[in-house]
Amino acid sequence: MRTHSCGELRATDAGSEVTLCGWVARDRDHGGVIFIDLRDREGFVQVVFNPEEQPDAHATATQLKTESVVRIAGRVRPRPAGTVNPNLPTGEIEVAAQSVEVLTAADTTPFPIEDRIEVGEDIRLKYRYLDLRRPEMTRVLRLRHNINKIIRDYMDATGFLEVETPVLTRSTPEGARDFLVPARQWPGEFYALPQSPQQLKQLLMIAGQDRYYQIVRCFRDEASRADRSVEFTQLDVEMSFVTEEDVMSIFEPLMVAIVRETQGVEVQTPFPRMTYDQMMSRYGSDKPDLRYAMELADLGAAFAGTGFRAFAGAVEGGGIIKAMAVPGGGQLSRKELDELVTQVKGTGAAGLVWLVVEEAGAVRSPVEKHLSAEEIAAMIDATGADAGDLILVVADKPVRTNVALDFLRRQMAVRMNLIPNGVWSFCWMVEPPLFEWSEEDERWSSVHHPFTSPASEDMSPENAKARAYDLVLNGFELGGGSIRIHRPDVQRKVFAALGLSDEQAEEQFGHLLTAFRYGAPPHGGCAFGLDRIVMLMAGKEAIRDVTAFPKAQSGQDPLTGAPAAVSADQLKELGLRLAHPPKKQT
Ligand code: ASP
Repeated sequence: MRTHSCGELRATDAGSEVTLCGWVARDRDHGGVIFIDLRDREGFVQVVFNPEEQPDAHATATQLKTESVVRIAGRVRPRPAGTVNPNLPTGEIEVAAQSVEVLTAADTTPFPIEDRIEVGEDIRLKYRYLDLRRPEMTRVLRLRHNINKIIRDYMDATGFLEVETPVLTRSTPEGARDFLVPARQWPGEFYALPQSPQQLKQLLMIAGQDRYYQIVRCFRDEASRADRSVEFTQLDVEMSFVTEEDVMSIFEPLMVAIVRETQGVEVQTPFPRMTYDQMMSRYGSDKPDLRYAMELADLGAAFAGTGFRAFAGAVEGGGIIKAMAVPGGGQLSRKELDELVTQVKGTGAAGLVWLVVEEAGAVRSPVEKHLSAEEIAAMIDATGADAGDLILVVADKPVRTNVALDFLRRQMAVRMNLIPNGVWSFCWMVEPPLFEWSEEDERWSSVHHPFTSPASEDMSPENAKARAYDLVLNGFELGGGSIRIHRPDVQRKVFAALGLSDEQAEEQFGHLLTAFRYGAPPHGGCAFGLDRIVMLMAGKEAIRDVTAFPKAQSGQDPLTGAPAAVSADQLKELGLRLAHPPKKQT
């Protein structure tokens, strides 16, 4: 139907007869001569209809509605001097139309198909096919395609086999709620959608497949956030006969290639490695943004025996005192500082103490009179604050203190403009705890998942460390993995620590425990959130922005209306009865 795409024509094509198909993006009637921007996936081209030269084509063009699909035949010619558009790849030429055929006429679209137009997300998602016509969305889809290709080429070159695993499967515990699918043929029984292919990839190692990968959809029934969705895509990997270093060093060149090819930036390897404990102490987070400093300082020693009740009380209650210096933060207004205090309380911490450092080590602060000169000096020394800086101090239980200071670090970096452009700061977090106490369930649970190998003989839940690692980029966790348990006796011990009896372990994971008995190689692996990688490379704020057909934050799909009620017959066939009528979909 066409000889060229709209976006590919250049000055060297001048003189050629072309036939183009595309969407009418914009039309302008310049005193008889009509100009149309014709759009396809490859870009735009200007088409000119002259009433004198081609009266029939011109007559049709006067009737064209935006977003109609047309087929145009014409001749490429250089644009007249002074009308060249240097911002458009096709800006040096135009197509003089000889004929035009309307393939389908379009109704007025709910919003104009233009990058600069601001439209509510619900409307964009409801008409996603229109939204995806925008050049910016095409750029994102292409970027995602390119990243997938870089991954596939790299995995192939390094000896990984792409193996598909089922979507209808049995629950794998990754710590989230499962999506269940009723099994019609087995009334009362359910498949689970995979939270990850964790057990299957381990079984592939026992199957002797050595190096597995898959770009795979995973499902976790949890609240959506900007960087998390109920349905997401992982680059999932498993390798035999490896240590932590082997796994980490395989993925560094891949990340370097992705950044090089999508950003034109060369990242240095090896990426820094930091233990979980170091990260928590220095940044209050296991996914710190290392593009800026603002390290946290422990003020426990500086305030031992302090007379300041807020600090002394926190320490007596098992808390800690930590602080950071915000370069130039002294310029924040009193109102802004008061707002900051409110925000910090919102993170769950008891409060925030702030001090502005003035010349010669003097400070300005609402609590100044409660602090001794030595305490102030020690605080300035520990945080490395200079005149004009702002010191932020939190004293509370360790977790709350770290959460608050992590929040403040991120927030201040943005506010004070401390984040350099074009910097890709990767880092590995290693040696996290094996278990964490779950307040909700009142029991120990796995920090990673129960198949993660302990790092030491000490398996007491409070102390045990895991042979696990996370890859962090610019303050986001890109993914993580671990060296796995490959001995049934160790696996049983971990299940026991998680409160699973031998019978329960057998019932839920018997297939894996049995497989371990037939020759399991030492193995390990990891999984990376592909949506998150693309989001960061595309410079977007939400993974919805880099997914062709995403769910809204509510978990609903405004395009298809999913989830939706089903008919009484379908329920009957499945042997299900609803305890509550479905809530009306909004
Ligand atoms: N299955 C893990 C996850 O989805 C990754 C891994 O341990 O390989 O986070």
